[in-house]
Amino acid sequence: MAKYNRLTPEAAELLQAIVGKQRFSAGDGVKPDYAHDEMPIYGRYLPEAVCLAETTEEIAAIMKVCNERKIPVTVRGAGTGLVGGCVPVHGGIVVSTERMNRILEYDMRNLCVKIQPGVLLCDLAADALAHGVMYPPDPGEKTATVGGNVSTNAGGMKAVKYGVTRDYVMAMTVVLPNGEIIKLGKSVCKTSSGYSLLHLMIGSEGTLGIITELTLKLIPKPEKDVTLMLPFQDIATAIAAVPAIKLANLDPQSIEFAERDVIDSSAEFTGNHIFPTVVNGKEAGAYILVTLVGNNEQELLPKMDRLGEVAEKAGAYDTLVIWTDTLKKDVWAARSAFLTVIEAQSKLLDEMDVVVPVDKIAPFLVYVHEEADKQGVYIKSFGHAGDGNLHIYCCSNDLEEDEFKRRVKKLMDASYAKCTEFEGQVSGEHAIGHAKKQYLRESVGETAYGLMGQIKMVFDPYEILNPGKVCHDLEGGAEAC
Ligand SMILES: Cc1cc2nc3c(=O)[nH]c(=O)nc-3n(C[C@H](O)[C@H](O)[C@H](O)COP(=O)(O)OP(=O)(O)OC[C@H]3O[C@@H](n4cnc5c(N)ncnc54)[C@H](O)[C@@H]3O)c2cc1C
Repeated sequence: MAKYNRLTPEAAELLQAIVGKQRFSAGDGVKPDYAHDEMPIYGRYLPEAVCLAETTEEIAAIMKVCNERKIPVTVRGAGTGLVGGCVPVHGGIVVSTERMNRILEYDMRNLCVKIQPGVLLCDLAADALAHGVMYPPDPGEKTATVGGNVSTNAGGMKAVKYGVTRDYVMAMTVVLPNGEIIKLGKSVCKTSSGYSLLHLMIGSEGTLGIITELTLKLIPKPEKDVTLMLPFQDIATAIAAVPAIKLANLDPQSIEFAERDVIDSSAEFTGNHIFPTVVNGKEAGAYILVTLVGNNEQELLPKMDRLGEVAEKAGAYDTLVIWTDTLKKDVWAARSAFLTVIEAQSKLLDEMDVVVPVDKIAPFLVYVHEEADKQGVYIKSFGHAGDGNLHIYCCSNDLEEDEFKRRVKKLMDASYAKCTEFEGQVSGEHAIGHAKKQYLRESVGETAYGLMGQIKMVFDPYEILNPGKVCHDLEGGAEAC
């Protein structure tokens, strides 16, 4: 079992010499934000020091210092993760990529872009559009770093058409735990060239190496898009419509769902009442949002008609067409704000990000609601109906934290077991961190979990890189603050 050393004054001096005084903080100088991500219920752990790296070479030098001294290193992007992934649960230092935020170069002949890992998703998306191309991955939190997206294999609202972050990574530069720098992948469209270390690194949550440069695939941007809002009586009817929508040959960019409860909270909090609650005289209990894309309006009109027919047959109260930029902005701003609204309205919060086969979304939600009622916690849910990825938030404003955690544990144990029974996976896009390790282990089984642990040891024999995450088990940990 790994035994770690604390940061000594000698090591601190070496690290400070690597990044310079302005980009190094230690002890009381470390900002409290570095102790948690966006799900603080999983614990706050303040690092002993923080290095704001700017180059691959700096990170390589930092890793050499820490590897030789067995000091844990956790890399952090924007800290918007939801599973405690960037939180230094075993102490040591945090390497932040927030200063590695340069878009380096576009290669329009090979349709790719080279960036540093700390570039924010919103900046890359906007810059790509300004260059007449599109970077399709579209997770809800636009201020996440692209390095964080790659390390969690982030999904998002356009995954049903374009795929997830993994599908856009062509090559990367990685610093290994011992400080060695390697390049993985190439700017090519296909490869059958040995084990894919590139794909092993994607979604490895900073446990195998630190990504310091990325080459990402781009696509031509669609010229026109339209959003259609489908209100239904309840979530079961709404979700039952999804297979028919997918089979209608419309190739939608997004198929999202939300329960009425979340819509009401969002409207109350933001003042944005863009989702109508009564449609054709009937109370809507759930909504599906569909985005269609094409080269021009003429291409989209027959698709919209077809979607209207399918939706009506499936029980939608109406098909509300959202054409104008202002309305589209309002609808998707409301959708993007769901989690922020839930966070703001709940004293205590925990979440599940399971992915199940599309036909199991509704029965899974029914099951979770029943279990939540038994435990006396309330549930708010929304997510990516097109790919079976549910974001289920367990909330309470009344319980004490310990009691909330005890009840949520029971709810989660039952729900993840049901997810496995339904042939689902523990996480569709938020990843494992240290919060969901137990459920990963139960879901994949001892052999697969053990193999993951052995892979970790091959890359990181001193177990210093983001210890205690994904499949890495260690007793104890640093003290929570
Ligand atoms: C409001 C809200 C909405 C969200 N919506 C979505 C969504 O729709 N889809 C989705 O997938 N996620 C979503 N998320 C979760 C989060 O934004 C993603 O997990 C995101 O990819 C994390 O990026 P980050 O830069 O914040 O990474 P961090 O939280 O800083 O780190 C996440 C993990 O990546 C590792 N890491 C970061 N940078 C590197 C690097 N350069 N090299 C190696 N490892 C690295 C860290 O060690 C950690 O394990 C949402 C979060 C919020 C708060």
